[in-house]
Amino acid sequence: MLRLEKIHKSYTIGKNALHVLKGIDLTIEEGELAAIMGSSGSGKSTLLNILGLLDDYDSGEYHLDGRLMKGLSETRAAIYRSQSLGFVFQSFNLIPFKTAAENVALPLYYQKVRRKKRNKLAREYLEKVGLLEWADHLPTELSGGQMQRVAIARALISRPKVIFADEPTGALDSTTSLEVMDVLQAINAEGVTMVIVTHEHDIAGMCGRVIHLNDGMIETDERNAAAAA
Ligand code: ADP
Ligand code: MG
Repeated sequence: MLRLEKIHKSYTIGKNALHVLKGIDLTIEEGELAAIMGSSGSGKSTLLNILGLLDDYDSGEYHLDGRLMKGLSETRAAIYRSQSLGFVFQSFNLIPFKTAAENVALPLYYQKVRRKKRNKLAREYLEKVGLLEWADHLPTELSGGQMQRVAIARALISRPKVIFADEPTGALDSTTSLEVMDVLQAINAEGVTMVIVTHEHDIAGMCGRVIHLNDGMIETDERNAAAAA
């Protein structure tokens, strides 16, 4: 479903190029729950952003669902993202003056879905993450774990095939982190492919596959049978 071949990526800073990804070969199959680990600066977010069509790469090939993703216009990338990809970030990225339900419904607003249907679906997805009774609350009234579950519901509402999560539990305490991971595991068990960047071994231990990046290269890539949800 996701196939990277010899991916290289550099950032230009003034006159210097910083070579961040140094030949990544990686295939992620439909239905996998994969963790990407590695020390800070090893290129995890860069890799996730390329997989999620949030950023381009310099050389190599990326096939998403059999289609080559290379040199996409911003419009094209946005279309592919809204059709089949979902995102969850460490900082939740909720709109502070909108309720939980309104935040969840937002992707449907951009897809021009009618208000009544948006509201109905938003409540369904909030229920899925155990937050129906919080639908009319603002993010400031929610705990961190609840905010992240709202963000997950928002990612799910457009029925993505893949969810990319960049340190989704990075701002949460360990109990709450496990609750959020339970939700992500349950979604994966329903067939959504998931790629999670994490620093935490506990979190990676809940994933069926753990990929270690070191200085822009894949150092290890291991299956974890015990994590099968
Ligand atoms: P990680 O997520 O593993 O901590 P990143 O992929 O965010 O690592 O970053 C890898 C390296 O690339 C770091 O040295 C970082 O400073 C640099 N970097 C990331 N994004 C940019 C950018 N937009 N412009 C310049 N340098 C960047
Ligand atoms: Mg990062």
